[in-house]
Amino acid sequence: MFAARTASGRRAPRSYLLTGLLRCGKCGSNLYSSARQLERRYVCLSGPDHRGCGGITVTAPPVEQLIAAAVLYRLDTPQMQDTLTGRRADDARHSELLEQLNRDQAKMDELASMWADDEISRPEWKAAREPLEHRIKSIDRQLSQITGTTALEGIVGHGAELRTRWEEMNLQRQAAIVSAVLDHAVIAPAVKKGGKFDPNRIVPAWNL
Ligand SMILES: [Zn+2]
Repeated sequence: MFAARTASGRRAPRSYLLTGLLRCGKCGSNLYSSARQLERRYVCLSGPDHRGCGGITVTAPPVEQLIAAAVLYRLDTPQMQDTLTGRRADDARHSELLEQLNRDQAKMDELASMWADDEISRPEWKAAREPLEHRIKSIDRQLSQITGTTALEGIVGHGAELRTRWEEMNLQRQAAIVSAVLDHAVIAPAVKKGGKFDPNRIVPAWNL
C-alpha cells in the first residue's frame, strides 16, 4: 500500500464508509476498520499504537446500512430543510461581511499612504486606525462562525432519490453525504454475544 501511495502521489482510497465516524461505547476511542478473512469489521484497538480498550468489535455491513438509511431519511425531514434555509441566509451574510472586510482593509491602506504622504499626523493615523482594526477583528470572528451550505446543497430534500442510487455511488460520495449529517456514532457493547446485529447498539450524534 505504501509503495502504491508513493508511486501515484495520492492517498489510498478509503474502503470503509464509516472510517473516523465510529467510537467505542466502552472507552470512547475511534474504531478502526479491520478485515478478518472475508468479514469487514470495525474494532476498538488496544496496544502500544492505539489508545483503545480492545473491547468492541462490530460487523461493518449492518452498521453501514443502518446509518446510511438513517442519514438518507434525515435528509428529507422538514428540520433539514429549515437548516438549509438558515445556511443560505448565512451565505448571504458571509458575502456582506467579506465586502465590509475588503472595504475596511482598503481604508487601512489608504490611511497608511496618507500618513506616508504627510497628509495626516501619526496621532491622527492611529486614531483613525483603531475603529477599523476593531471592526476587522469582529468581522474575522463572525466569518469564522458561519457555516455555509456547500456540504448540504444537492442532498437536502433528495434522500429518497439518493437512496435509489446509493449502491452505484462511490464510497467517497457516500462518505461525504454521511459526514454532512452525522458527527459520529457510538457503538455500544453487545448485550449478548452472537446472533443478529442489535440496532440499539448504534447511538448516533447528528451534526444537524
Ligand atoms: Zn474501546
